[in-house]
Amino acid sequence: MNILCLDLEGVLIPEIWIGVAERTGIEALRLTTRDIADYDELMQHRLKILAEHDLKLADIQDVIAGLSPLAGAADFLDWARSRLQVAILSDTFYEFAGPLMAQLGQPFLLCHKLEIDAEDRLVGYRLRQKDPKRMAVRAFHDLRYKVIAAGDSFNDTAMLDEADAGFFFSAPDAIARQFPQFPPTATYAELQDRIEEAMADF
Ligand SMILES: [Mg+2]
Repeated sequence: MNILCLDLEGVLIPEIWIGVAERTGIEALRLTTRDIADYDELMQHRLKILAEHDLKLADIQDVIAGLSPLAGAADFLDWARSRLQVAILSDTFYEFAGPLMAQLGQPFLLCHKLEIDAEDRLVGYRLRQKDPKRMAVRAFHDLRYKVIAAGDSFNDTAMLDEADAGFFFSAPDAIARQFPQFPPTATYAELQDRIEEAMADF
């Protein structure tokens, strides 16, 4: 029995915060974990900027609803779900992912939650658990599944490491070079081939 663990942003959908920055014109929201390595510092920065611009959850959800999955993502996901079980492991929030999940046929998603006050303002966030992607793969192993994983960035390397087979998908060269143990793939077709090969090896 096999499970495919997929990162979300950069693999199936565009980077949500960059989309929000572009559509709102707020450049300060462009920063990602590549700019500020400490996730809590980055999130506190984002929450402060949203408060300064008086942006509420509904405003951000409107922006996100205008985003689309990456070209070919829906077909790739349909293929994957026909071949094995798929779990999406993301560091985004359910409140943000919703509109894009609808466009992808509501796949199974493990991510985090925002804290929203009575006025619909973002006042905090709650991580599901520490080291969430690695822990999810470990849990699937406990359930006796073999795990294949694919992601595009630093926050995926624990998942790729814990998986029985881990691949980069569309990762920046600089990141892929730092982790040569994870074969890079550039297209969904290439990733499909790698997944088929891995399943044949199990
Ligand atoms: Mg990503």
